[in-house]
Amino acid sequence: MQTRLPEDLLRTPEGQEADAILRSCVHCGFCTATCPTYQLLGDELDGPRGRIYLIKQVLEGQPASRTTLQHLDRCLQCRNCETTCPSGVRYTRLLEIGKARLARQVQRPWPQRLLRRMLAFWLPRRRFNRIGFSIAHLLRPLLPKRLAHHLPAHWQPASLPTKAPMEKHVVLFQGCVESTLMGPAHEATRQLLRACGHGLRYLAQEHCCGAVEHHLDQPEAAQARALNNVHLWRAALAEGADAIVMLSSACLLEVRHYPQLLGEQAPKDLGTILQRVEGLDSWLGRHLPADFDQPGNGPVVAWHPPCTLQHGLRQAEAIPQLLARAGYRVRLAQDSHLCCGAAGTYTLLQADLSQALGETRRQALQALEPAAITTANIGCLLQLQDPSGPPVRHWAELLAERLQA
Ligand code: SF4
Ligand code: SF4
Repeated sequence: MQTRLPEDLLRTPEGQEADAILRSCVHCGFCTATCPTYQLLGDELDGPRGRIYLIKQVLEGQPASRTTLQHLDRCLQCRNCETTCPSGVRYTRLLEIGKARLARQVQRPWPQRLLRRMLAFWLPRRRFNRIGFSIAHLLRPLLPKRLAHHLPAHWQPASLPTKAPMEKHVVLFQGCVESTLMGPAHEATRQLLRACGHGLRYLAQEHCCGAVEHHLDQPEAAQARALNNVHLWRAALAEGADAIVMLSSACLLEVRHYPQLLGEQAPKDLGTILQRVEGLDSWLGRHLPADFDQPGNGPVVAWHPPCTLQHGLRQAEAIPQLLARAGYRVRLAQDSHLCCGAAGTYTLLQADLSQALGETRRQALQALEPAAITTANIGCLLQLQDPSGPPVRHWAELLAERLQA
């Protein structure tokens, strides 16, 4: 793609990066066919190729409007287009640069701005989101159905020690909403690690990974959280932790992008520390004892690979392999490459699109008639809940259950 970015922008690292990404796109449109929002809305501007054109116009200094921003805001950032693209276009990075530039020209309507600020304040703070979810749980019968069904019927905050044990141990990342709503998965992780001869701890001062604020246009707040976490992880590793493990693929993807997020603020040893941060699946793959394996005649489970895992981290094979080792018969639903519509705060910011995508995924997964639906990310776990369908659980819970059996 030919570009005419202004000289002042081309003198900046972001300008040069955006120019290189734009030039790598050859307009073939392969990505459009696999884009969930294009499939729903049928508008070229709600697909990746159209959005790339819009970003190019913004960066070249052409006038932009709220409609331009709306097309970009409708993007789930699922990265399905990046997996499809034969030219390796780094669409998500281009979107990030383009939206930051556009935000200087166009404002969202005030109700949207208010909602985004409220979410950016409330979600990353564990104490507040625990209070909020407790109230929502009590008011569940009064909530609109589309909101109520995202709440798991039973949930309890996780509670694990924060003191470093003498034994071999790993640190389990708490996240923000994750440790509030995924207590059973954290308890399951403790059991799995115990089977591998390791203890488990939290870090009391650990923050949210920063993804919420990063995606709600508050990069400085996300940077502060990233720096805080890196500092704590460095200390925990020095105290003998074997690794920092994560249960939600969205958090791990955000952490993988800390070098980009932090830029010149990145500490010199960031790369070394990040090498010790990994998904629970990769840690278990190295440590589960051989006698964990069971005959493959267990219950059928429907596996939903989160976009952050399959398109972002490109590591979607390890978890089904672990489930198969535990004896489960793992099934993939039709069009499993498509997003469930959770996409962080998308459920609340683009409620209609999110609802439509969630319904399609739920139907495809339930059509497999599984004993349970399983996934690897807190957002998907909430989005796929359906009181009239099979239980939706984190894969670590299923693995721990077989361990007990
Ligand atoms: S598939 Fe890649 S090269 Fe083709 S239009 Fe999409 S982003 Fe551009
Ligand atoms: S990230 Fe997902 S929603 Fe956004 S353009 Fe790419 S495929 Fe479409």
